[in-house]
Amino acid sequence: MLGKIQRNMKSNKTKVSISKSSPRSSRSSNSVKSVQRDQLENHLADLLNVHAIKDYCPNGLQVQGKPVIKKVVTGVTASLALIEAAIQEGADAIVVHHGWFWKNDDVRVVGQLHARLKLLMDHQISLFAYHLPLDLHPRLGNNAQLAKLMGWTQANGVSSVGGGSMDGLIWSGKPSPSQKNLGQLARSLASRLGRDPLVVGDLSRPIKNIAWCTGAAQGYINEAVSMKVDAYISGEISEPTYHIAQEMGVAYIAAGHHATERYGVQALGQEIAKKWGITHQFIDIHNPV
Ligand SMILES: [Zn+2]
Repeated sequence: MLGKIQRNMKSNKTKVSISKSSPRSSRSSNSVKSVQRDQLENHLADLLNVHAIKDYCPNGLQVQGKPVIKKVVTGVTASLALIEAAIQEGADAIVVHHGWFWKNDDVRVVGQLHARLKLLMDHQISLFAYHLPLDLHPRLGNNAQLAKLMGWTQANGVSSVGGGSMDGLIWSGKPSPSQKNLGQLARSLASRLGRDPLVVGDLSRPIKNIAWCTGAAQGYINEAVSMKVDAYISGEISEPTYHIAQEMGVAYIAAGHHATERYGVQALGQEIAKKWGITHQFIDIHNPV
């Protein structure tokens, strides 16, 4: 998920890494190797339950490109660097977690948006974005995929934030057997996400129950406290988060907004490749936040 403030950090040494998932090797020679753009949008809307989720950005097709899609590139954020990399790789569509047109954005097509939009439209690439629907999905979502990566098991359902309309936003469960204390949990996050987390709490503290929500969900730390967990893990941290953690007796780990949200969109891309026999490529544009 994305916090209230979206900042664009520009680096002159953008790191890009790419992973590919090929269509099923067992597919028959006459299997579909392309998909209609509208067919893909309808399928993803159903799969991710888009119409039932209230969000502060449009979920689905945000920018219309060519009508037939053979290659999809996925990424965390629809940044200029991701669009440039997708063009290099010959993508017909880009699918991201963080798209454009957020609720309080300037609606004028100037500056940063103009540069991104012009490049995308000049190459007739479609942009699909799934924000909360991709956080919430019980199998393909960011929380589900982070748990899979970390070896966490989900227990006792999920919290209800926002009167039930956002069920599934905060997950709770058990850490993997090798993550017995806060230090071990932090080191496991560092090695699996490739990024050192910021940790609040005593590293020797035993960890039996955890809660987690990917991205900028530090604002839900009180919900995590009410779930009576030993540690709460999200992506970012704010100044008050430190004091809440210390005073309410919960450990807090900021494991990276980008780092924790790489996995839902990759799982979605693999799902698309498998269903339609099209090519999928995940492109990781480095973001230290
Ligand atoms: Zn996010």
